[in-house]
Amino acid sequence: MRPEVLEAMVPHLARGYGNPTGAHSESRRAAALLDEAREQVASLLGAEPGEVVFTSGGTEADNLAVKGVHALKGGRAVCSAVEHQAVTASVVSIQGDAVPVDSEGVVDLNALNTVMGPDVSLVSVMLANNEVGTIQPVGQIAKVVHELAPGALFHTDAVQAPAWLDVAELAADADLVSVSAHKMGGPQGVGALVVRNGAELLPLLEGGGQERGRRSGTPNLAGILGMAAALQVATSTRSETVERVKALRDRMVEGILSGLEGVEETGRGADRLANIVHLRFQGVESEELVALLDEKGVCVSAGASCSSGAMEPSHVLMAMGFTRSEANSGVRLSLGWNTTEADVDAAGEALVTVVERLRHVRVGR
Ligand code: PLP
Repeated sequence: MRPEVLEAMVPHLARGYGNPTGAHSESRRAAALLDEAREQVASLLGAEPGEVVFTSGGTEADNLAVKGVHALKGGRAVCSAVEHQAVTASVVSIQGDAVPVDSEGVVDLNALNTVMGPDVSLVSVMLANNEVGTIQPVGQIAKVVHELAPGALFHTDAVQAPAWLDVAELAADADLVSVSAHKMGGPQGVGALVVRNGAELLPLLEGGGQERGRRSGTPNLAGILGMAAALQVATSTRSETVERVKALRDRMVEGILSGLEGVEETGRGADRLANIVHLRFQGVESEELVALLDEKGVCVSAGASCSSGAMEPSHVLMAMGFTRSEANSGVRLSLGWNTTEADVDAAGEALVTVVERLRHVRVGR
């Protein structure tokens, strides 16, 4: 976490035990802190304070958007084929549809036009993808949705975005926006759903009626204070961080590409986040790559999941048109606000060594 986040959280964790909904002075103090954090988060995301619903993270925010709208309005939900599982599984649970993407991971607007209709109540397309970093034209998509299905709400999962993109501007036309603190230097287990333009939904969690009845439960105040601080620092340092981290990422990729044959950068032609790169290595299994890199202190993600003993390829890569074996030859490397030149050089060197070793073993088999 960013040091400013710890500074905002620790005093509250150490001595703040007030529940913001109580009536005594400790509660009033907690309520004032919660109001202040809500105002800060709202203004940084381009929303009104009353439009921010604090949640337990991105997963809950996505579920609340998709299932909460469906529970109130019925109708059909539509999402892109490359959404995070928090959206895809929610859409599947209410028998919704997925819209294809092109080979760079960008939503096919013609296909979106085709599936739209008066029965659509919600469309969900992420601002930036968590596996390959592709940025979607959500402003344009919001317009298409509002034109073709005037009663439908547009949701964007912006979980990957706030540290790298101006969410307030890019998602200005979205009715619902999900964010999560741990993707911007904040704590895990806290996030928010912006519910804008008078959008209405039913809560997933019922109880004490907190968050204007949209999410019951005692708020995670320390987490919320941490998220507000993280969003504040991430926003005020964003342009400098993006420039620095993008240069580091490009340096790492160049090092890997010059050290190895048979490497492809996924989604290279798309507009992408500055901190994510997804690489595919011919003749290499990502599962083995992840394990060997881990031994060298480099933590990467394969984007695939293991179900019943067999590696299931990433649904994102499959939706982009890659074969199973291509999809299972890739890893995502993500950089953070505190990544250094020494880090990327070490990661690049480790990758080259490990890929060479795996290919050598394969040839020897
Ligand atoms: N959406 C995206 C795009 C993500 O990358 C993630 C987490 O990785 C989530 C949703 C889920 O957020 P959380 O981990 O806060 O539940």
